[in-house]
Amino acid sequence: MTADNQQLTIGWLYPTLMSTYGDRGNTICLQKRAEWRGYQTQIVPLDQQASIENIRQVDIIVGGGAQDRQQEIVMRDLRGAKAEAIREKIESGTPGVFTCGSPQLLGHYYEPALGQRIDGLGLLDLVSKHPGFDARRCIGNVVFEVTASQLARDLKKMLGKVPLIVGFENHGGRTYLGKVEPLGRVVKGYGNNGEDGMEGAFYRHAIATYSHGPLLPKNPFLADWLIQTALTQKYQTPVELTPLDDSLAMQARAAMFKRLGVNT
Ligand code: GLN
Repeated sequence: MTADNQQLTIGWLYPTLMSTYGDRGNTICLQKRAEWRGYQTQIVPLDQQASIENIRQVDIIVGGGAQDRQQEIVMRDLRGAKAEAIREKIESGTPGVFTCGSPQLLGHYYEPALGQRIDGLGLLDLVSKHPGFDARRCIGNVVFEVTASQLARDLKKMLGKVPLIVGFENHGGRTYLGKVEPLGRVVKGYGNNGEDGMEGAFYRHAIATYSHGPLLPKNPFLADWLIQTALTQKYQTPVELTPLDDSLAMQARAAMFKRLGVNT
């Protein structure tokens, strides 16, 4: 099967409510990197108007960050059959990238700075709590190593090594993991809570992270991992992506590592 008769459907969680921190760049990056290789793409908003069928048809899910208020609206909408459909997708191995506010809603609950605890999907074994507006916000560039075993193994196979991830975090909430595997170990920045050195979570094929940036244009190999995993899953046949010229992204990464004093 060739790229031109393969198709990728990207599900974008609540594009208007959860795009506060520039994470739409992840959706654009996935779309472009698939199209540049000849795959057809379609973006489906998974918002208040979305049907269960819309959720079932997607091959990759992208969820961005939001402020507490918008996040609360989303968490109240994402219940019942809709929540079940998202859960089924992730459990069955549909890959996804969930940033900041999105992992908070995939966990057991989120306690906002103001107001009551809001239940999440309970899909990731983690909880998130905002300690209040007096507490220091976790803001700044972040660098972390990938420790999630399957992702590290796949990246090593794709690239011959496991590159550091670079991004930008901006969160008040602190996340504490239960049994779910962390995505990585913090080299620079706060990560999940600024205390235990862990960053994000990894479950089935879902990347959960505090890293905006947006994440994928800054770490294009993660976008390729998502595309490759999605196509392999969908067509049940191994997929080799043709290489792209990522020299500008690599220069940007090198400049940031240098600025942060991180050896790669
Ligand atoms: N509202 C959440 C917090 O402040 C999420 C912020 C974000 O998505 N960047 O923790």
